[in-house]
Amino acid sequence: MNLAPILRRWRRFGVRLRQARVFAKAMTSPRHPILVHLIPTRRCNLSCAYCSEYDDYSQPVPVHELFRRIERLSSLGTTIITLSGGEPLLHPQLDDIIRNIRSHGIIATLITNGYLLTPERIQRLNKAGLDHLEVSIDNVAPDEVSKKSLKVLNRKLEWLAQYAEFEVNINTVLGAGVAEPEDALVIARRAVELGFTTTVGLIHDHSGQLVPPDSRHREIYQNLMKLDNRFFSYEQSNRFQRNLVQGQPNAWRCRAGSRYLYVCEDGLVHWCSQQRGHPGIPLQRYAREDLEREYETVKGCAPYCTVSCVHQTAVLDDLRQRPRETLMQLLSPRHERDHPFRLPLSLRFISWALLSSNRRKLFGGVAVRILGLRRQ
Ligand code: SF4
Ligand code: SF4
Repeated sequence: MNLAPILRRWRRFGVRLRQARVFAKAMTSPRHPILVHLIPTRRCNLSCAYCSEYDDYSQPVPVHELFRRIERLSSLGTTIITLSGGEPLLHPQLDDIIRNIRSHGIIATLITNGYLLTPERIQRLNKAGLDHLEVSIDNVAPDEVSKKSLKVLNRKLEWLAQYAEFEVNINTVLGAGVAEPEDALVIARRAVELGFTTTVGLIHDHSGQLVPPDSRHREIYQNLMKLDNRFFSYEQSNRFQRNLVQGQPNAWRCRAGSRYLYVCEDGLVHWCSQQRGHPGIPLQRYAREDLEREYETVKGCAPYCTVSCVHQTAVLDDLRQRPRETLMQLLSPRHERDHPFRLPLSLRFISWALLSSNRRKLFGGVAVRILGLRRQ
């Protein structure tokens, strides 16, 4: 009997509880990193033509050094650590790193090209306590640009569906330069069939800036959104992507260097993978003053930025600062789709709790106690 779906449901409950902690903490404090990308190795087993984030020779970062970095991130109040690379599965002690992240009460997630997944490797990730894994797939059949292909990875996805107790998301790509944009739909349909969530990344240049999609890509984007029939998903409400797909800029404040950190293999803090060198300060010296300065720093690259995870942290800050407008924005696609529209009880409660600063303080305080959070 395959117990993975039952265990996945049980584990998912635990992940939801920890995600509620992330949300509650983000609502009560603007002073800690919500999400950090940590690089355990720069090395990759593939060589995608568009990628500037890998090499084929770097040694893995020593595990004691990564533990020191995780300890430091924990003391700054970090709530989610995503291991990426390069290819993080190439790190020989990856399971110990995941365990160490979890021992600090931090959500552990992983971004991989999927090539090294086997049933045994997936079960080891279960045991280590991984919360979430994302596989990025670029095309249906391998070409000279990318070998991250459904044809090559389909078996790996089936193993994930069978054995993984953690959440799985499949990320596809869309935008100018993608030879077969229809591939994104084929990949997303397969992901949904296997019970995974899907996201789509927009092609960017080497500084994270949008490469504008054409009308064919825009139509495929609309079809991708229709595949997602959950009551509410961030993807459907993602105003950043909706604007970018139309070639429009976004008006927002990027809080990279504060709410989101990118910690490279040398242990330096950068705004993001696309803006390395800013501020380029060693993590061990990164302090509250740095978090506060970068929270306020205006980034010139923000209007056409495609870095989706930094957009997501900005939405949490918008919810804290302008709850009514942000909730209306998040729910507007649902309003447009469903007439009449009625919020489910859980969302009505969240709206009610957020929409007055007194209630927000009260419920934030209650959440801090119930969920065992420290205020930052
Ligand atoms: S698999 Fe990922 S890290 Fe490796 S070369 Fe391709 S895009 Fe870069
Ligand atoms: S706006 Fe922020 S996340 Fe986007 S490229 Fe610039 S620094 Fe990076």
